[in-house]
Amino acid sequence: MSIVVTGATGKLGHHVVEQLLEKVPSGQITAVVRDREKAAAFAARGVKIAVADYNAPETFDGLFTTGDKVLLISGSEEGRVVQHKTVIDAAKAAGVALLAYTSAPGSLRSALADDHRSTEQVVIASGLPYVMLRNAWYNENYTEQLAPTLEQGAVVQAAGQGRVASAARADYAAAAVAVLTGEGHAYKTYELSGDTAWSFAEYADEIGRQTGKEVTYTPVAVGTYSAMLTGLGIPEPVAEMIAGVDQAIEHGELGVIDGVLSGLINRPTTPIADSISAALKG
Ligand code: NAP
Repeated sequence: MSIVVTGATGKLGHHVVEQLLEKVPSGQITAVVRDREKAAAFAARGVKIAVADYNAPETFDGLFTTGDKVLLISGSEEGRVVQHKTVIDAAKAAGVALLAYTSAPGSLRSALADDHRSTEQVVIASGLPYVMLRNAWYNENYTEQLAPTLEQGAVVQAAGQGRVASAARADYAAAAVAVLTGEGHAYKTYELSGDTAWSFAEYADEIGRQTGKEVTYTPVAVGTYSAMLTGLGIPEPVAEMIAGVDQAIEHGELGVIDGVLSGLINRPTTPIADSISAALKG
């Protein structure tokens, strides 16, 4: 019996495994990865490594054991619903005790959420005890772009005056760890978001305050933003989806604050200002 984390070499997965290591013996953790090399540091600390690919169902044969608690971290590539079904089918065949899935906020109507809604249906249809971790936006979605933002002295988005109730990846990871190591979470759907919501004008001001440089928010139309992204080499459908997220932000779909995340992790979520300062320290 193990706590099994898929996508363990991704950014969120890395936080989850690190935080699990603080709570349970390393031998009780299994990291599911595509590339064993990328997981060498976890293996050296006693974490079990399983190599599997969402695109290769046979790699999940026998991977799970009855009674495992599994965190399915959503994939980041084309064909996610079919990929996720591979993991869910294998979890069902094994009879795992809990299947937690990193989903998208219920308030998000953007196309980006479609795969997550479909995956939630597959999870529910499996009949397994599940937990939906509906993660809102990561602070790092923006702070990882600080270098170009500072270069241009501008935060360019198509979100108008919309607000984002984001939290750090580490906060969402802590929620996953709370669910995987705690009791009473089966059949729950958690809408997880930050304790505070900020606008892009406030974000630009905060970067300026911390760096002493002039940074302004330049709101643009959705079509302009999408064209700007394709100009940077991003494929058109992806650019449209990213611009669509900004529209969702303008409509308030990613600004919902309900305190569920801070309640689960028993501490406040990480303010965007702290993530800016962490990113500036590199
Ligand atoms: P990430 O760093 O891109 O991690 C994605 C993980 O999925 C990686 O470990 C990757 O494996 C794994 N993966 C992708 N395709 C796979 C496949 N075919 N088979 C097995 N593993 C596969 O993303 P993240 O920041 O950790 O976020 C986790 C997930 O949250 C993302 O995948 C995405 O669905 C979603 N997301 C949420 C937000 C948000 O703001 N809430 C933002 C971006 C993404 P490798 O390590 O081998 O590449």
